[in-house]
Amino acid sequence: MITNQPTEEDFERVTIECLTQAFNLLFKVYQNYQEYDEDIHEDVEMGDIWNHNVGTIRTSTILLHQAVESFMKSVICRTSPLLLIEKNRADWPTLPMKTNKDFDSLYTISGESLVATFCAVESELIIDNKLIEFIEKIRQNRNKSIHGASNIEIKPTELLDDILNAFTYFFGRDKWFLHITNFNLKNPLFGYYDWEFEDAITYEFLDFVESVIGRKKMNKHHETNIIGRRYHCPICKDTIDAEYGEMNSKWTFLHPNTPNSENVHCLNCDGNYKVTRENCTTESCKGNVISFEEEVRYKFCLSCFQEQKE
Ligand SMILES: [Zn+2]
Ligand SMILES: [Zn+2]
Repeated sequence: MITNQPTEEDFERVTIECLTQAFNLLFKVYQNYQEYDEDIHEDVEMGDIWNHNVGTIRTSTILLHQAVESFMKSVICRTSPLLLIEKNRADWPTLPMKTNKDFDSLYTISGESLVATFCAVESELIIDNKLIEFIEKIRQNRNKSIHGASNIEIKPTELLDDILNAFTYFFGRDKWFLHITNFNLKNPLFGYYDWEFEDAITYEFLDFVESVIGRKKMNKHHETNIIGRRYHCPICKDTIDAEYGEMNSKWTFLHPNTPNSENVHCLNCDGNYKVTRENCTTESCKGNVISFEEEVRYKFCLSCFQEQKE
């Protein structure tokens, strides 16, 4: 018998872990750079930092490839993990007189055999040419990374886009953000500094993605249309501004995105908030999306975040 056969969930967990780590490696490089002020940013450009961190890009590329292979394995496991075994079936140690073999001690398929099997099994996924080309591209980039050429051509922009594409292909829109923030949330150290602040600071992941791949490419990974006019979130901004400086990023959008919409959705906290459509009372502001705080009974503008005069 072959013991300890893996399940679909085992490989899915590894997929998410690899994608999360591939993302976080790049994020840490960006976050570290953000800690320096504008004067230093003028002296040292982000491009130089990426060049310096070529090893990190390489590792992230390998993790992305690992994630893609694990995902294909998870889909195959839905039919049977036995399909992953490389060994000729006649040589399987499965007859009663043979000693049990642990699945992990066997060679498993990879490369072309893995793709062919992935395409052969039943799955809810739409497996089209575009997906197969994507998988092939990830494999080639991984080869470029490990074959020792010192100047790998993979740029962080392309790599991050690919990491998000993998998240969205495999798990659907908005899932990249859900999995990345979940990893933080499950950290045993989460909340020891300040629960609310640590919960709200996740907007830095959104800032990072926007700064590297741009809003247009980012839009395809979210259900909410993020191309429209952006607003402050009444909760996130309030939390960050309360004690820890100032949140300038705006990740809140009219939902639905229509001129008279009376609801906004925040990508960061996933909250929906009612708004009234009145002109902001601050002269320099052209905002007309006003939030109302029931408990303290004051209105404030989600464009400039100023309290509204009666
Ligand atoms: Zn929010
Ligand atoms: Zn305003």
